[in-house]
Amino acid sequence: MANYIPVIGLEIHAQLLTNTKIFCSCAADFGGEQNTRCCPVCTGLPGTLPVLNRQVVNYAIKGGLALGCDINRYSKIDRKNYFYPDLPKAYQISQFDLPLCIDGKVKIDIGEEEKTIRIHRIHIEEDAGKLVHDNIDNASLADYNRCGVPLIEIVSEPDMSSAEEAKAYVEKVAGLLQYAGVSLCRMEEGSLRADVNISLKTPEATRLGTKVEIKNLNSLKSIVRAVEYEIERQTKMLVNGEEIIQETRRFNDNRGVTTSMRSKEDAHDYRYFKEPDVIPVSITDEDIESIREELPMLIDERFALYVKEYSLNRADAKILVASKEISDFYNEAISVYPNYKAVANFIVVELLRYVNEGELDSRNIPFTARAFAELVKMAEEEVVNKNNAKAILKIMLEGRMSAMEIAKAEGFLMNDSTDEIEEVVNQVTSEFTSEVEGYLAGKEKLFAFLMGQCSKRLAGRANPKKIKEILELKLAALK
Ligand SMILES: [Zn+2]
Repeated sequence: MANYIPVIGLEIHAQLLTNTKIFCSCAADFGGEQNTRCCPVCTGLPGTLPVLNRQVVNYAIKGGLALGCDINRYSKIDRKNYFYPDLPKAYQISQFDLPLCIDGKVKIDIGEEEKTIRIHRIHIEEDAGKLVHDNIDNASLADYNRCGVPLIEIVSEPDMSSAEEAKAYVEKVAGLLQYAGVSLCRMEEGSLRADVNISLKTPEATRLGTKVEIKNLNSLKSIVRAVEYEIERQTKMLVNGEEIIQETRRFNDNRGVTTSMRSKEDAHDYRYFKEPDVIPVSITDEDIESIREELPMLIDERFALYVKEYSLNRADAKILVASKEISDFYNEAISVYPNYKAVANFIVVELLRYVNEGELDSRNIPFTARAFAELVKMAEEEVVNKNNAKAILKIMLEGRMSAMEIAKAEGFLMNDSTDEIEEVVNQVTSEFTSEVEGYLAGKEKLFAFLMGQCSKRLAGRANPKKIKEILELKLAALK
């Protein structure tokens, strides 16, 4: 079978985190009763005029900087004409030839390999409304709440060649926008969606094959499935000598297939022209610098810091930086207790277990990083043993008690006085006389048994090293 290389580019739409819409003062956040968050401006009634929300421009620039873009000092707003029932104006205000941001790059990890995906451009635009298909009345209803919600469209170069790379790219872009604080990037709420462009070529081909666009993928899983399906479909067609048609397809999540929606439009089909109602945007170097200063340390820099300065292993560092909330939590915890590895390990192994099992929302941890640092410190300094530290964490997730309060209430504190240990060692050695005799006769394995009996009775309250020491002394005395 012929060997084809997939060539994949993505267009990601991310909703910006502004309070209000791009051209009016309607609320822009997710939800709301249908058609309660719209006004004459965002529904495009005659006689109304849009006013560009400055925060949209600032957030778009900030997102662009996070994605390594250059910012155009002069940027123009354009009108994209098309009719659709969820677009009452019959045009969308967007940007055509002078977008806000250009020429970015994003690094992704594929196994051990690092790959750079170039970003062609980022522009701002308004979202359209939503059609609700009513099965009962066999009608379609329009909800205009999303009309005018501010979006950035991030257009990549066709630099990806597998579903895995497309997924890693979307995750990285979403992560960077979250770090920059400009988008929630919640695919399940529609604040991040992707269109995938995909074509196949033979290794020796100098030109790209005919591309197909798959619209509106709203989960990482659908992106992966749609890309894999499309690679297979196009490969079969090419092998059979069939011609690929340039078209827009939709992915059917239930059936796992893509189906044709319409033949693909070219830019001229939209009759783009300069939006007469919105003035162009001028951006100064000072504007850009003051926005750049607001950016926190981003994913790649934090990863390098964790690996190089804190000596974390790459796998743990990668897990920590994958979510800004977790990375911030880690940074705060180590500012209180700078045992980098112990804190990282307790987050990755213990805390994130609850997140992965869906029992804890990493955006909503019910205790502070400082309280968590105290727990890790107690475990490291053997104030409580490791198992009891885990039990304390579980209780911390439920209530408002600190690690120390829980340790006291549950009797988890290690007993440093040797009295209790000696008492238990005496009990055990007088109860298990045959094991003691066996040990003294040379069956060294029995030491572990006696040790286990002592530990069990001390229920994690004593340092194992100390128990061992006292038990050894006692046995030596019995010789
Ligand atoms: Zn409005």
